[in-house]
Amino acid sequence: MHNTDAVFRELREGNERFVSGRRAELSAGSDGVPVHQPRAVIVGCSDARVPVEQVFDQAPGSLFVVRVAGHVLEPAALASILYAVRELGVRLVIVLGHQACGAVRAALAGVPDEALRPLVGPISARLCSAADPQCSESDAIAANARAAMAEVREFLQASVPDLAGAIGVHCAVKSLDTGEVTWLE
Ligand SMILES: [Zn+2]
Repeated sequence: MHNTDAVFRELREGNERFVSGRRAELSAGSDGVPVHQPRAVIVGCSDARVPVEQVFDQAPGSLFVVRVAGHVLEPAALASILYAVRELGVRLVIVLGHQACGAVRAALAGVPDEALRPLVGPISARLCSAADPQCSESDAIAANARAAMAEVREFLQASVPDLAGAIGVHCAVKSLDTGEVTWLE
């Protein structure tokens, strides 16, 4: 089990290294099948401009990554988080939104077609309940991340009530301009 505060600090410092171009020498570990001991869960968007291990300057194998466009939390995504918490001992979950998120843009524009409704619909619902209808795109991106964070907390409280109090759940937004991760709380 990892110390939540220390892992959180390491992720912040890793992003500072990423932004400044001073990335650490990272190793993928020894040969053979490594033990699965990720230190944090990152719930991110599928967007190709947000490579999670690089953004936090973390070695391969150290993050348990759940990526769905707009970080929509369908049942399998939530179950993946539960697995990391319950079976792998992870105690830190980060929801990572990002600047210029196409999924949020689609939600703001309205559902483009029926096939995309499972993706865009939940984001629209988050924005309807959390954001000012006239809000900016960046405000909507932050609202989408905060809503996902609340969904994770609620899910963990319902699924693993004995553990939920010990699990840090935070959210942040990554700038595509600078690479910087801004923590929302
Ligand atoms: Zn996105």
